Amino acid sequence: MMEKYDLHCHSTASDGALSPKKLVLRAREQGVTVLALTDHDTIDGLDEAQQTATELGIRFISGIELSTTWENKCFHVVGLDIDPCHPALLDGIRTQQGIRAERARKIAWKLEKKRIPGAYEAVKAAAGTGMITRSHFADFLVTNHFVDSQQHAFDKYLGRGKPAYVATVWADLQQAIDWIKTSGGIAVLAHPLRYNLSGNWMTRALTAFKNAGGQGMEVVTGRSSVDDIQRSHFLAQKFQLFASQGSDFHTPKDPWVELGRLAELPYGSRPVWDLFD
Ligand code: AMP
Ligand code: MN
Ligand code: MN
Ligand code: MN
Repeated sequence: MMEKYDLHCHSTASDGALSPKKLVLRAREQGVTVLALTDHDTIDGLDEAQQTATELGIRFISGIELSTTWENKCFHVVGLDIDPCHPALLDGIRTQQGIRAERARKIAWKLEKKRIPGAYEAVKAAAGTGMITRSHFADFLVTNHFVDSQQHAFDKYLGRGKPAYVATVWADLQQAIDWIKTSGGIAVLAHPLRYNLSGNWMTRALTAFKNAGGQGMEVVTGRSSVDDIQRSHFLAQKFQLFASQGSDFHTPKDPWVELGRLAELPYGSRPVWDLFD
């Protein structure tokens, strides 16, 4: 049987629009046969997603997307096939959640200084029991007409160097990879082309990732162009990393990204799912 893999997406446990259950239902409608849920710094959606996947006969992979820091830059590392009960991983996640909560307060405070009050209460309510992310702040800014799109919210307030940007020290890259691997998971560098790295920095970052025990990188994402895929494939080959694919789906409102809607891995890739037990 020809499998359809989507190994990166989000639910309401972080900044996704759909509950884990609805997300899995949608994945199934889109023909996905192997799905990993990878919410930002939380495993809270995994139980519900797993249960729904079992009911629907979809193979479910427990995942997470950890925010990490390396050389003062933020890198997202996806953990695939993790054990969501592993104490070391849970401990690490708790630390990340503390950092996230504190950052949210600081972002709100900076917005307040820009005469934008009430952000914390709003994002807290929107996130519910889930992680507060900058997407929540972006939505708040759009809803209250401070900007006209998510992108503008980042360009004007939330992005690096903007007035409500809060420099954040996440788990060290090595630390995050250790948490993932200790819990039996596979460490995959998420969307490598989205960090705006020069060629030289890309080489340094991938070297560091590989040396820290990273095993894979995303070669195909929901927004990859043909050129992006070629470039990522070349890098994966060069650094001997397994190739992953995931849409990074957040919401049905984004017409460009859909669960399972992904180009094929280039010929010669070593797919990351060869490592799944
Ligand atoms: P955080 O992890 O809290 O910094 O939030 C990062 C999330 O914000 C990402 O996973 C994206 O979903 C979203 N995001 C980041 N940058 C942008 C951007 N330039 N435009 C729209 N959404 C973005
Ligand atoms: Mn996100
Ligand atoms: Mn990401
Ligand atoms: Mn993501």
